Amino acid sequence: METKSQNSLLNRIQVTSGVNVEDLECIICTNLLWKPIACNNCDGLYCSECIKSWLVQSPGNCPQCQNYAERRCSPFVIKQLAKLQFACINQPNGCPEIIGYEALDKHEIECGYKLQQCSGCHSPLLKKELAKHQNNCGSIRLTCSECNVSYFRRDASSHTENTCLREQLRQFRQDSATYKQQQEEMINRLTTQLEQQKVDIQTHEKRIEELSQELKQLPKKYTRK
Ligand SMILES: [Zn+2]
Ligand SMILES: [Zn+2]
Ligand SMILES: [Zn+2]
Ligand SMILES: [Zn+2]
Ligand SMILES: [Zn+2]
Repeated sequence: METKSQNSLLNRIQVTSGVNVEDLECIICTNLLWKPIACNNCDGLYCSECIKSWLVQSPGNCPQCQNYAERRCSPFVIKQLAKLQFACINQPNGCPEIIGYEALDKHEIECGYKLQQCSGCHSPLLKKELAKHQNNCGSIRLTCSECNVSYFRRDASSHTENTCLREQLRQFRQDSATYKQQQEEMINRLTTQLEQQKVDIQTHEKRIEELSQELKQLPKKYTRK
């Protein structure tokens, strides 16, 4: 809503219901007020977004009175805005809806004439046609529930039962080979540990032998009677 573009709210008004639209323009963006709030000191009306970014640039400074104090927009202004009706922003794509000010936001989020991109071929498509397209688009990736291999939908016919079974066999062989390798690694690890323990035991035994030799060679007077 920041510029007066082709799609601006002002350009899309279809029904004014006698409301004087010029009184409902934002001083900052000069477009129709969107979610307006007001300055309590000068009664200036601004789109919430417009005054928010304005105040980031010059804090506390109202565009009109230089002394900004926020208050809620008067019910009168809200009522005036509510009388206006608009063409949907997606009218150029074929949306026929004429929507009231307060319902506009919600409609344009849900509008079926919004352009979206196919996740496969990236073509722009109307939101309401996207699901149907994506259910048929050849560039969408599919994943086989049997073998977990993924392929483009357009290549689905080459993933035959035969191909799938061969892939499952290949995976099974690979898994078996991995399992076997893990088992071998574990056996090797345990064997190494066992060897180390044997060495430790031998070292201990040797030390015991040495100590008992030393004990025998001690003078008699240190031995107990
Ligand atoms: Zn504005
Ligand atoms: Zn002010
Ligand atoms: Zn629409
Ligand atoms: Zn597609
Ligand atoms: Zn498969």
